[in-house]
Amino acid sequence: MTLTPTAAQQASLGAMPEGVTLPLPPQNPTVEEEREIRKRELAAAFRLFARFGFSEGVAGHITARDPEDPELFWVNPFAMRFGAISVSDLICVNAQGDVVEGDRPVNRAAFAIHSQVHAARPDVMAAAHSHSLYGKSWSSLGRTLDPITQDVCAFYQDHGLFDDYTGVVVDTEEGKRIGVALGPHKAVILRNHGLLTVGHTVDEAVWWFITMERSCQAQLLAEAAGTPVKIDPAMAELTASQVGSHYGGWLSFQPLYDRIVAEQPDLLD
Ligand SMILES: [Zn+2]
Repeated sequence: MTLTPTAAQQASLGAMPEGVTLPLPPQNPTVEEEREIRKRELAAAFRLFARFGFSEGVAGHITARDPEDPELFWVNPFAMRFGAISVSDLICVNAQGDVVEGDRPVNRAAFAIHSQVHAARPDVMAAAHSHSLYGKSWSSLGRTLDPITQDVCAFYQDHGLFDDYTGVVVDTEEGKRIGVALGPHKAVILRNHGLLTVGHTVDEAVWWFITMERSCQAQLLAEAAGTPVKIDPAMAELTASQVGSHYGGWLSFQPLYDRIVAEQPDLLD
């Protein structure tokens, strides 16, 4: 797929000297290279989830489609702490949740969500979910996020609400209903549960999760202090086109990826 800056993003940067371009993902990698890229991004994402404190016991998973077989998914082993996950620890599961590569188990209940989200959205390459503190706090309100900051405009008219809670998700029917609530969007708030984000790259899905969690924190803080002013619809829409594209999500993740690889190079093992 092509992943390029939007016209609005280009415009916001102004004219650049000839030969200077924005960073881009590796162009035309082989299947093997692309698989390695996705696994590295996935391992880095778990280290960042640990760093940001998004873990809660054994909850939380990030999935990435295999570049060769779109019915196979790379995911974290069940009950392994995010902060210890390296590339070689990742397991590969099929759409039924059977482990086809790796010697550790998958959280089948959790995979019931991810497999159905991926089935509902063939365009989605990666999905991220955890029980992060501000995401689950906000989810208990049963509301979507309001456009009260520049950053949250990435989700303006682009996130759904799963306005139901029926216990720990263990069957695929519930996963299907979550897929419907996600619709064509980049994220869905699971009421009384937490956040789920998706992307055309691992980087994008993970960035949306991180910035959505912080957007939940921002709105909780703002509403605790007073009545936040909402950005008007036209401006929220413009801002969404500047910060909310597939490319914008990918780009925003790059400094975080570089930082965690520099600090914890063993994640690439
Ligand atoms: Zn969950």
